[in-house]
Formats: sequence, structure tokens, C-alpha cells
Amino acid sequence: MKFFRWNVTFQFVFLALCVYVGLVGLSLFLFSRGLNDALDDQLKSLLAEQSQLIDFNGKDLKWLEGSDSAGFHSPFSRPLASFQLFDLNGKVLGSHGSYHCAKLFLHPQEIKGLPVTYRTQVLPLIVKDTLLGYLQVEMPTTQRDAVMMKFAVTICSVTLLGFALLAWAGYNFSKEAAKPIYDSYEVLRQFSADVAHELNTPISTVRATAENMSEELNEPDALRTRLEVINRAVDRMNIIVKDLSLLTRLGMESEKPTKTPEQIALRKLVVDVVEEFKDRFQQKSISFSSKIEGDPIVSGHQDPLHRMLANLLENALRYTDSNGEVNVELYSDHSHATITVSDTGIGIPEESLPRIFDRFYRVDKARSRDHGGSGLGLAIVKAITAMHNAEIDVDSEVGKGTTFTVIVPIQKIRA
Ligand code: ADP
Repeated sequence: MKFFRWNVTFQFVFLALCVYVGLVGLSLFLFSRGLNDALDDQLKSLLAEQSQLIDFNGKDLKWLEGSDSAGFHSPFSRPLASFQLFDLNGKVLGSHGSYHCAKLFLHPQEIKGLPVTYRTQVLPLIVKDTLLGYLQVEMPTTQRDAVMMKFAVTICSVTLLGFALLAWAGYNFSKEAAKPIYDSYEVLRQFSADVAHELNTPISTVRATAENMSEELNEPDALRTRLEVINRAVDRMNIIVKDLSLLTRLGMESEKPTKTPEQIALRKLVVDVVEEFKDRFQQKSISFSSKIEGDPIVSGHQDPLHRMLANLLENALRYTDSNGEVNVELYSDHSHATITVSDTGIGIPEESLPRIFDRFYRVDKARSRDHGGSGLGLAIVKAITAMHNAEIDVDSEVGKGTTFTVIVPIQKIRA
């Protein structure tokens, strides 16, 4: 689990890192381009100002009499920028300010110097369509670099902080993400343990009985009794395995139906199941009655719906003592049919009610096993109701009895 969480966190942070590095790189690039453009614009406007102070009338280009580097207006340019006049061959004709490199660059250039880097910009000096020379400005990039450095430091600190937060959030988020997996793993683990436990009892019975049989080979009556025990144990295993495979099939059918639903007449279905159980209730001296109203038609599957009602009646029979009462009802309104199975049996304690639909949960293990219960009856009922978009509810009081209510959506009511 811990490894899984770290793994998810690592992948999450790595993915975020890739996106982040891309974004940070892009923003650094765009920001530095913006700063360069701003610097170039500033240099261009300085060049435009400075070109006003050039004397174009002589043979060679030169600055007007009396102009110097203080002759232009920009407050930034005075201490920083320097200007150079070049002829067409790149020879320096004159300069304003203390320049750093006496070379003409026809395109903007970064001149790396220690400790200062300079940026140049050039203005071709054209009079009446004739190129006379070039005016070049050179300015330290200190201000631009300082802003860029500040931006980079800020963005890197924010990034580091962001990553710490992301790693923390990722680790916590992975806990949430892993929860459903962990829960289903726990359910599976519990389920395997329950199946092993359930099968262990009849297997031990078969083994112990078979061992005893070897000592009783000459006693046919004892052997017959032992064989009956083995038969019952095998029957138990058979019921458990059959119920388990039914549950699996129901689960698969609910998730990905392969069978087309049919139109089921609930009235006939209830009447049939009631008929099947009549004799068994009579044998146990339980008064068994039914009240069936209307003939609702539901969209569903005959065998599972039959099994659902049979399981509820099986439980009513199992957990109601002689002289008790069991009643089945069917009624419906325009949208739903309701089936209730109520008994005056032992009832279910309130704290057990939320768990009775769990696989292998039993309030009284001994009583359930003695009566042949697999502990899967209500889990099967629940799966069948889910398959039919139905709801099941239970109302019970210890010592008084239990009522199960199933509400199924209907297609129509047959007249
Ligand atoms: P089992 O095979 O043990 O009957 P079920 O899944 O059908 O398994 O039922 C789960 C448990 O719910 C039972 O063991 C029993 O304790 C309780 N139970 C179910 N139906 C009734 C009922 N009608 N009256 C009392 N207890 C019931």
C-alpha cells in the first residue's frame, strides 16, 4: 500500500514536473523576449533622438556643433548609453559617451563583457535615398538582466514551493485514490478467508468421518451412519459452491447483461413459489398465508426473481418456530410492485441489520448451519434486486418477527 502511494505520488509529481518545466521554460523565454523588445525599443528611440543632432551637410557625418551626450532627453540614456557614428566602411567618425566596442554591428548585438554586457542597435543614416553612414547606440543590459534575474528567482522559488505542495497533495491524494482498490482488496481477502472457512467445516467432517470408517469396516450400521454424515457434508459444500457461482454470475450479469430481459408476470411467479412452499410450512406447523392483488408485469428474468422470493421464504421457514406465522403479499401502484415476506420468527438484532446482506454473515451461525443455510441467501437476494433496479428493505424486531419488502419497477399492470 505504502509502495503504491509513493509510486502514484512519484508519477503524479513527475507528470506535474514535465508540465511545470515546460511552462516555466516558456514563460522565461517569453519574458526575456519581452524585455529585449522593450530594450530595443528604448535604443531605437534613443537613436531617433540622437540622429536629430547629426550634421548631414558636410563631406563626412558629424555631430552638430555644441551637441554632446547631454543633448538628448531620455533620463535613462545619459549615464548609460553611448553613441558612435560610422561611415559606410565601418570606420568610426565620432562618438558620444564612453563606448565599449568600436565596431559596427548591422543587427542588434549582445557584447559580453566583464562584468557588464552591452546591447547595440544601429540606425542607417539615409538622406534623399542615399545611405551616408550609420549611427550605433550601445547600452549596458544591467537593468534588463537584473529584472530577468528577479523574475527567474521568483519563478524558481514559486516552482520549488509548488513542488513541495504538489508532492504533499499527491501523497495525500494517492491515499484517496488507493482507497477503492484497497477496499476491494480487503473485500476479496475477507471473501477468500470466508470461503475457506465455510468449506473447511464440511471438509474436516468428511476427513474425520472417513478416518473413523476405516476402523468400522465390519459394522454396516455404523458405516451407513458415517456415509450419511459424509453425504450431508458434501451437500453443504455443493450448496456453498452453487450459491457462490450463482452470485458470481449475477454480478457479471448486472455489470454486463448478456440476456435480454423478458416480461415477467409477478402474480404467477408469486403464486408458484407460494405453492412450492405450502407443504414445508405445514410440516413445520407454521401458518402460511398470502394476499395477492393485481397482475403487475416487470421487465426481468424469471429464474432469478423466482430464486429471490424462494430465498426470502426459505429464511422465513428457517427462522420461524413452529406455531408461528408467515405471510406473503403482492400489490402494486402505477409504477412499482411491492412484495413483502413477513414472519413472526426470531427476528434480527438492530445492530445486525446493516450486515445481513453481506456474504456469509449470520446472526446465529449454529442455527443457520443446522438448517442448511450457506450464509449467501440474502447476498443472492440483494444481487437479484440490484439486477432488476429494485429496492429491498428489512424491518425486524427480536422475538417478534421480520418483514422483507422488495419494490420493483413495473412495465404495466395486466387487466
Ligand atoms: P443463511 O444461509 O444463514 O440463512 P442468509 O444470507 O439467507 O444466510 O441470511 C443471513 C442471516 O440473516 C441469517 O443467518 C440470519 O441470521 C438472518 N436472517 C435472514 N432472514 C431472517 C429472518 N427471516 N428471520 C431472522 N433472521 C433472518
